[in-house]
Amino acid sequence: MLIKYPSKNIRSDYSENNSDPKVYYGLNKEIKFCSKCTYSNQKPTSEKEFKHTIETKKTTIPFSDKHICNACQVLEKKDNIDWAQRKNQLKKLCDKYRKSDGSYDCIVPGSGGKDSFYASYKLKYEFGMNPLTVTWAPHIYTEWGWKNFQSWIHSGFDNHLFTPNGRVHRVLTRLAVDNLFHPFQPFIMGQYYFPARMASKLNIPLVFYGDTNAEFGHPEDFSNPERNMNFFTTNNTEKIFIGGTKVSSLEKDFGLSKNELEPYLPLKPNELKNTKLNIQYLGYYLPWHPQECYYFASEKGNFAPAPERNVGTYQKYASIDDKIDDFHYFTTFIKFGIGRATYDTAQEIRNGEINREEGIALIKKYDGEFPKRFSDEIFRYLSINSVEMPIAYKQFEKPEFDLKYFNDLCDKFRSPHIWKLENKQWQLRNKIWN
Ligand SMILES: [Zn+2]
Repeated sequence: MLIKYPSKNIRSDYSENNSDPKVYYGLNKEIKFCSKCTYSNQKPTSEKEFKHTIETKKTTIPFSDKHICNACQVLEKKDNIDWAQRKNQLKKLCDKYRKSDGSYDCIVPGSGGKDSFYASYKLKYEFGMNPLTVTWAPHIYTEWGWKNFQSWIHSGFDNHLFTPNGRVHRVLTRLAVDNLFHPFQPFIMGQYYFPARMASKLNIPLVFYGDTNAEFGHPEDFSNPERNMNFFTTNNTEKIFIGGTKVSSLEKDFGLSKNELEPYLPLKPNELKNTKLNIQYLGYYLPWHPQECYYFASEKGNFAPAPERNVGTYQKYASIDDKIDDFHYFTTFIKFGIGRATYDTAQEIRNGEINREEGIALIKKYDGEFPKRFSDEIFRYLSINSVEMPIAYKQFEKPEFDLKYFNDLCDKFRSPHIWKLENKQWQLRNKIWN
C-alpha cells in the first residue's frame, strides 16, 4: 500500500510560544506582506509541474527591499509601455501567420471564461485571424461554467473540447490531493500540454495565451512575448511525476497505461520536429485588465457571472467553471496562508478596482472560508472505487474520501511557521490585518 492515512502532525510545533517553528515547502521563514497589494512573500511562483513532489522546494515571488511584490513592480513597468507600438507588433505578427483561405492560423486555449473570450474575440474580430479554440475540460462543470462555455462557442468559434478519461483523472487528482494537497495539479498538466500537442498535431504553430504570468508576480521577463518552451517539453520521461507519483509507479502500482497517461505528459522534443511552435502572450501586446475582459465578454458574448458568490471570496466572475475550484483555493490557504480573497483582492488592488484597506477587510471576511457547497460531490469524486479502479484501490489505506479525511489532510499540510493552535483553534500566526 502506497498511500497511507494522513500522518498526524506534532501539536507542539504549532504552539503559540514556538519561537522557531518549522517551515514547510521551502517557503520564506519570515512572513511579509506587500505594502501595495495583499500578496505575501509565501506565494509560490509557477514551476515545472512534472517535477513536483512533496520534497520540491518552492520558489516564491520576489519582493523588493521596500516590501513591494514582483506583481506590483511589473505594474509600474506597464505604465511606461508604448501600447500603440505593441499593437503594431501584434498586427505584424498576425500578418505573418494569417491564412487567406480562412483555415485556422492560431490556437487560443481557454475555458470560455472572460480572458479566453477576450483573447479569441480580439484576434478574430479585430485582427482578422481564424482562431481554433481548444479546451481541457474542468473536473466537474458548474452549471454556469458550462453555459459560458457554450456562449463562447456561439460567439463565433470552433472548439476542440478534450475531456480526459474520468477514472484516470480521478485517480491522478486523488494522488495529487494526498501527496501534494494540490487538487488542480493533473488538470494543470493536462491543460498545459494539450494546446501545444494540438498545435503540433494540426500544424498550427501560433498559440496565443492571454495575460502574462508576470502580471501575477512570476519572475518572467515582461519584455518578452514568447512563452518559454522549457515548460512544455522534456526528453527525460524517467523524471516525470503526476500527482507526486512517478510515471513508472502509476503504470505498475496504479494500473494506468501509457496511453492513459499521455495527455498529462510534456511533449517530447521530437513531437515538435515538424511544427515550429510559437507560443505567445496576448497580454504582452494588449493591456490586460481582468474586469474589463469580464465586461467585454458579457457585452459581446453573453458571458454571465456565477449566480452566487464564490466560496472564500467576494467576486462572482473569475474562475467559476469547475466545482473543484473552491478546494484548490482552500488548499493554498492551508499550505501558504493565501486564500481566494487574497488572490482576488491583490489583483483588483493592482488594477485599481479597490484600495488596499478594502482588500484587507475582504480578506478578513472571506479568506479561508470552508468549501462546503460542492463538498459531497467532490468527496465522491475523490473516492476510489474497488470495481471501477481495482488496482489503484489497493494502494490507498482509505480509498473513500470524506470530511474527516479531508480535515486530517489539512492538518498534515499546515506549515508550522504559518499556523498556530490557540485554544484548539487553528489561527494564522501572521494576519495581514494585524
Ligand atoms: Zn504587491
